[in-house]
Amino acid sequence: MSQPYRHYEVASQLVEKAATAMQLDPQVKELLREPIRTLTVQVPVKMDNGTVKVFQGFRCQHNDVLGPFKGGIRFHPEADEDEVKALAALMTYKCALVGLPFGGAKGGVLCDPSELSQGELERLSRGFIRAIASIIGPDKDIPAPDMNTNAKIMGWFVDEFAHVQGTYQRGVVTGKPIVLGGSAGRTEATGRGVMYVIRQAAAAFGLELEGATVAIQGFGNVGNYAAKFLHDEGCKVIAVADIFGGVYNPTGIDPYELKDHEQKTGSVREFPGTKPISSQELFAVKCDILIPAALGNQITARNAQDMRCKWIVEAANGPTSPEADEILQRNGILVIPDILANAGGVTVSYFEWVQNNYNYFWSEDEVNQRLEKVMADAFQEVYKTYSEGKGTTLRIAAYMVALERLAAAMKARGWVSGN
Ligand code: NAD
Repeated sequence: MSQPYRHYEVASQLVEKAATAMQLDPQVKELLREPIRTLTVQVPVKMDNGTVKVFQGFRCQHNDVLGPFKGGIRFHPEADEDEVKALAALMTYKCALVGLPFGGAKGGVLCDPSELSQGELERLSRGFIRAIASIIGPDKDIPAPDMNTNAKIMGWFVDEFAHVQGTYQRGVVTGKPIVLGGSAGRTEATGRGVMYVIRQAAAAFGLELEGATVAIQGFGNVGNYAAKFLHDEGCKVIAVADIFGGVYNPTGIDPYELKDHEQKTGSVREFPGTKPISSQELFAVKCDILIPAALGNQITARNAQDMRCKWIVEAANGPTSPEADEILQRNGILVIPDILANAGGVTVSYFEWVQNNYNYFWSEDEVNQRLEKVMADAFQEVYKTYSEGKGTTLRIAAYMVALERLAAAMKARGWVSGN
């Protein structure tokens, strides 16, 4: 049997590399080494057949020096404590990098939502929020959707939290339905942010987007919008895969039509005019931009050597193993790291929280304009650190920018000594 992937250890190694490169204050490193807390809960759910099943869940709060904790909640059979811890840490660095006043958190419930009825899913969602209610709140920790959780589940979360607290506080959760105070543009935000970062990178590294070829693993929320927005920019999407299989057409696939096909059939497979391709074959497709937008740990030492793309843009969280990262660097493949590439989602979640605090809502154009500015500024900061030779890769440069902000906040709050 293969060894389980050590998510938190891998995440910590990255921080260590950036910390060494920038000679980070060891006190700061020490404070970031482990999450501030992880709450493990058992959630009993009355199933439709009358029996009670107990689900295990976690809420990990990594660091809140910059503001209340923020991070998604995923429902997944592999959402174990180690993965949730690593993703919480990733949120700390992502929020710091894009300049949001949030700390990093993540939640997970070990379950397979495809095996639950709507009623069971609702009871599990409400039960999980009751179990973690004491450590969340608009000024404490603000959950959001992640894998297999969505606006509907956020609606149940907000309602259950109101029952527990006795007051309706819509800012406790982001990614809500618009009618409950969700933000315009939130659904598309991560995919749109991926496109904004690619726009910046194209200008910085001299890639012509008109006609640039794109392959995407994952055609869910992030992958499908990234495909559509890049198509609108003039890129040619030539390969797409989902959990059931993939499709390839070197002359281009229209992602809007592909989405219609996927909605009708449940998969991108057998889209007219394309050849079948597996997820692994997709990674070896010759293209300008490869976008992993599905799961973590997809690009490893096993397949990195075969990659024939110019760039990898990490729309998924943690898609590249450290060994693969080194191979890609050696082979001259540019990697735009997850904490930068997919920060559009948490950025618009932040906008939602701001709008909830004001009880005043912005138009979608306003949201998108603000998002573009946040993504462009973050890219430019990372690019500056990278091009000054401080970070050897964009990933290390991104972590350096984030760590600098965290260190400054820790000093200013008196968490560590120093001037
Ligand atoms: P989603 O559940 O909407 O979509 C996931 C997609 O990946 C689906 O098309 C699914 O079929 C596909 N997939 C799953 N396993 C696969 C496999 N083995 N091979 C090929 N395809 C596979 O999820 P999402 O919200 O789009 O999130 C995708 C990734 O982006 C995750 O890593 C998530 O953590 C990350 N992310 C999401 C957001 C967001 O706002 N949704 C924000 C930041 C990061």
